[in-house]
Amino acid sequence: MNPQKLKGFRDFSAEDLKLRYRVIDTLKEVFSLFGFSPLETPALEMGETLKGKYGPEADKLLYTFTDRGGREVGMRYDLTVPLSRFIAENSGSITLPFKRYQIQPVWRAENTQRGRYREFLQCDADIVGSRSPLADAEIIAVSYAVFQKLGLSYAAIQINSRQVLFKLLTNAKISSPEIQLSVLRSLDKINKIGKDGVEKELSAKGLSSSLIETVFANIQKAEPDENLAAVIALAKELGVPAEKLCFESTLSRGLDYYTGVIFEISTTEGSLGSLAGGGRYDNLIEKLGGPALPATGIALGFERIIEVLKESGLGKYKETGISVLVIPVTESETSVALKTLRQLRQNGLGAEIYPELGAKMEKQLKYADRKGRDFAVIIGPEETANKTVVLKNLRTQSQEVVSFDDLTKQLESCSRESLE
Ligand code: AMP
Repeated sequence: MNPQKLKGFRDFSAEDLKLRYRVIDTLKEVFSLFGFSPLETPALEMGETLKGKYGPEADKLLYTFTDRGGREVGMRYDLTVPLSRFIAENSGSITLPFKRYQIQPVWRAENTQRGRYREFLQCDADIVGSRSPLADAEIIAVSYAVFQKLGLSYAAIQINSRQVLFKLLTNAKISSPEIQLSVLRSLDKINKIGKDGVEKELSAKGLSSSLIETVFANIQKAEPDENLAAVIALAKELGVPAEKLCFESTLSRGLDYYTGVIFEISTTEGSLGSLAGGGRYDNLIEKLGGPALPATGIALGFERIIEVLKESGLGKYKETGISVLVIPVTESETSVALKTLRQLRQNGLGAEIYPELGAKMEKQLKYADRKGRDFAVIIGPEETANKTVVLKNLRTQSQEVVSFDDLTKQLESCSRESLE
């Protein structure tokens, strides 16, 4: 059998995970700072929960199958629909407004490319139960704070409103909600296929060329409505610089469930597409059988953030703390070595031992080198007799004899010196 992974699914090495964990920690920290609490939902949802929420094109990307009980189930496609299902199911016991963050993988049967996978992490922050522009402004502010904290301050936020778009489509005499959504799905591709591509798609959908012209003319003239202007003003007061908040009348967001303010965050070079996207979805919870609760939120595209961090050199990880390999020279020193190992670990110093009894000294040193350990603590018969160890700095190759009792203190001071 040829061992291979599925396309769009990835393994992560220790090196990858160092950066991924650090970014996850930063996200959790910022979300908590803004008063969001964590939530996790299952990987599988009922098929009917997911279907018909995103739009026909997105629906085709759902991973669905029939389980052993004959039910149609689907894998999480995003975190917004599962949150809405959770709220619909638990509305009686939830205190509103409800602010949650969620960091979990989602699955989409996409055509893969750089920054586009079939299994990827999304990181969402949402506020349920407030119709106020302040809720949308808070979502924008928390997203901006995340990018600031990660050092990606050049990221800009494009903002628009589905209400503005629905109105300009109605003014162009496109009043059917179905057709309006269909036009917005095409408009969402403008950065990928250009204005010409969107026009072609709209024409294939049956819109006349004069109607398409009117739609684009209306988009060109569009201005923020009162609610959107309030969101922008409040986001500024929450610390998002004016120049980072750009009203973009062509922004439409691809998913059907958006009803109001929509936003997207991208880098200036834009090679990776959007880094984050979100908006207001006031009907989704009700559609899932819950009460008519308004909601707004953002999905941060974790994978693309990681790519951008790596590209801009911000993905380098400075190790903190030191790491030690305890080396018994022969098998007779095993007990003393294990005692030393325990003492170091109890004092919070990262320490390991080669996991094989009686391994050759050379093999152990090679292992320490390969794993990038800072120090070797070498214990031979002489050291055991004298209650000492040989402390070898693997960076400089210098070594000294240290009494067993002083080892922890010595390593702690070494670590501070070597990190400074
Ligand atoms: P969406 O739920 O489609 O609005 O996506 C929200 C964010 O998730 C986007 O801004 C992207 O950064 C990210 N994203 C969407 N699809 C993928 C994918 N296939 N692979 C990696 N990231 C993605």
